Amino acid sequence: MVAGNWKMNKTCAQAAALAEELVKGYRGEGAEVAVCPPFTALKCVKEALEGSSIRLGAQNVYHEDDGAFTGEVSVPMLKDLGVELVIVGHSERRQIFGEGDALVNKKVTKVLKSGLTPILCVGETLEERETGKTEEVVRRQTIEGLKGLSEREIGRTVIAYEPIWAIGTGRSATADDANGIIGYIREILEKIAGKETADTIRILYGGSVKPANAASLLGQPHIDGALVGGASLKADEFLGIISTIPERR
Ligand code: PEP
Repeated sequence: MVAGNWKMNKTCAQAAALAEELVKGYRGEGAEVAVCPPFTALKCVKEALEGSSIRLGAQNVYHEDDGAFTGEVSVPMLKDLGVELVIVGHSERRQIFGEGDALVNKKVTKVLKSGLTPILCVGETLEERETGKTEEVVRRQTIEGLKGLSEREIGRTVIAYEPIWAIGTGRSATADDANGIIGYIREILEKIAGKETADTIRILYGGSVKPANAASLLGQPHIDGALVGGASLKADEFLGIISTIPERR
């Protein structure tokens, strides 16, 4: 899977124009592709994606259906717009908006129980990495994020390993390193959800993925795709990343 996180970028018209370029350029090769525009552009992008296999995702959600939650958007509202995937626990949500593992778990649970696919993001800060805490952090975020879910539900989740020091910095993890941590996440998953789930669950890498480094990252045995920020805002770069995906294993 290759998913584009457009973050807080693009008006409706700009987002629709980008989606149209992707529809023209994407031939359905190799990967399952999704784009995650801001809430305000979901409707426009859905219309632009009409007839294409590119799926629509959102960047966040709240875990209640409705009520006094000023500024929040619910799963029924997203479903109404044709959203199929939701990014949950992105590091920008965790760091800037103070989302913790308990809230992330409520959101992942809500998304799964509603039949949508969560993309659960995990990853360490530079300080955590430099003090040898990478495994401890991804273990905690994975276990806490998936708490209370059945093996089947965990199997329907997509996980994105995104080292925070590699997001938007131009500094990607090496393919070996990313593959190693994602392999470690599979070991954790095997303990909480069994070997079959651990082997088949999709785990993406995210952090400065570009056409130039995509082939080596996505060619790794444990890496099932990419969550792409900056490079997903330009059609040629995003399509360039998609085109490096090896045929389905
Ligand atoms: C992201 O924000 O999920 C991300 C991976 O960003 P970038 O590709 O810009 O590092």
